[in-house]
Amino acid sequence: MKLLNFIGGEWIEDNSLQTMPVINPANGEQLGTIPLSTKFQVELAAQKAKEAQKQWALVPAPKRADYLYEIAFKLKEKKEHLAQILTKEMGKVIEEARGEVQEGIDMALYMAAEGRRLFGETVPSELPNKFAMSVRAPIGVAGLITPWNFPIAIATWKSFPALVAGNTVVWKPSNETPFMAYELAKIVEEVGLPPGVVNVVFGSGPTVGTAIVEHPDIRVISFTGSTTTGSKVAELGGKHLKKVSLEMGGKNAVIVMDDANLDLALEGILWSAFGTAGQRCTACSRVIVHKNVKQELENRLVEATKQLTIGDGLDPSVKVGPVINKAALEKINHYVQIGKQQGANLLIGGEILSEGELSKGYYYAPTIFTDVEATSILAQEEIFGPVISIIEVSSLEEAIEVNNGVKFGLSSSIFSQDINKIFKAQQLLDTGIVYVNAGTTGAEIHLPFGGTKGTGNGHRDSGQAALDVYTEWKSIYVDYSGKLQRAQIDNNA
Ligand code: NAD
Repeated sequence: MKLLNFIGGEWIEDNSLQTMPVINPANGEQLGTIPLSTKFQVELAAQKAKEAQKQWALVPAPKRADYLYEIAFKLKEKKEHLAQILTKEMGKVIEEARGEVQEGIDMALYMAAEGRRLFGETVPSELPNKFAMSVRAPIGVAGLITPWNFPIAIATWKSFPALVAGNTVVWKPSNETPFMAYELAKIVEEVGLPPGVVNVVFGSGPTVGTAIVEHPDIRVISFTGSTTTGSKVAELGGKHLKKVSLEMGGKNAVIVMDDANLDLALEGILWSAFGTAGQRCTACSRVIVHKNVKQELENRLVEATKQLTIGDGLDPSVKVGPVINKAALEKINHYVQIGKQQGANLLIGGEILSEGELSKGYYYAPTIFTDVEATSILAQEEIFGPVISIIEVSSLEEAIEVNNGVKFGLSSSIFSQDINKIFKAQQLLDTGIVYVNAGTTGAEIHLPFGGTKGTGNGHRDSGQAALDVYTEWKSIYVDYSGKLQRAQIDNNA
């Protein structure tokens, strides 16, 4: 299937553009093609979005919200269809794909409700017969740049708050997962969102992404992706004085103390390390374990890992699907080789899987290293695959230090039954998200989502905090005294 850009409410066919294949990572089949747009398509999209925004901003927020309710109903109606496509283009197992579509539905409903709140504030003026308030004003056109690992959830985390607040959007989805963008654009069309309110432009990051960040009419950029790309976006956005929200990489850890419930810890680690084949931004990549329970946890982790079924995520018995593409497979393997060379002890996995049907796709064996140095490359870099590094510690203080000793700060978790340790840890773990007696993944859409240090720049997706990205505060003074009163001088003088 040939996917087309969606600009100004139209599907634009442009045969002069080169195309790129979209591949199912489970079996190498070509699912379709996308156009490799140039900056001209971005310019057209920005122009349509700017025109549409003038009207869209005048639609009362509760009425804008009504569109989001319609979108939620459509997403619900198409949930299974969307989940199947998501698994085909991205590889995550079908139950996770269903969960991701549900996240989109939840976000639509949550942000629709915000349309009837969108709180501002009134404050007393310092002068008599004067009224003072501040309101959230839309910024204008928002440029959204999204990754492939949550192709529908992250798109909804960004576009729904932007839309309900009165912005229009120009969205560049990842080249790896354009079908989710196509399906969302179709829904936008079906619910009758005015033309130009949502525009989708396919193409390469350096071309289309850069054009979005540079475009003078796109005034806020919301980016999710790697820290390397995010730094480039920040630099260019800074040059053009843009508001830039960045959600980037992670090196998330589960801490297991010697008083932990090991059954729970085992389940939490497996789910957060090997779910989505380790390609969640919140994936558990390090297990920081107390020396008293290390051996037992290792033995149990290895045994449980042996039981995981690997294959095409459309098969409901499969627990670990493929990774996104060949480059990812090679990158994961590269880190594993470094780990071996640097003396980490490989307990299981550590290889590309290529037997039988698996040879057609991109599969990496769930991998566990132990006795990993906390400062080694394996324990420091984001691998973005099904690889766990086990690091031994002797105390909670040491565990917290190891957890915080990386350049990222997205998610961490602690398994313990000691309330004192738990409260100390939640305060001292330097990450945007902390889980207690749960793995490192599983965000709820009504809480802020994002991280510290190299993971973010202080903004958040999700929750009320997302509205801060897409709005600016406007302060309004209404003087009904009938005379010219001036603040900051002594009116009684
Ligand atoms: P990526 O950085 O390669 O690409 C992200 C997006 O940026 C894509 O749409 C890509 O085409 C675009 N892009 C590439 N170069 C660009 C440029 N020069 N200018 C503008 N845009 C450009 O990331 P990815 O491989 O798609 O996604 C995986 C990464 O995303 C991981 O690092 C993961 O941790 C991170 N991630 C973070 C979060 C979070 O909320 N913190 C959530 C999901 C994924």
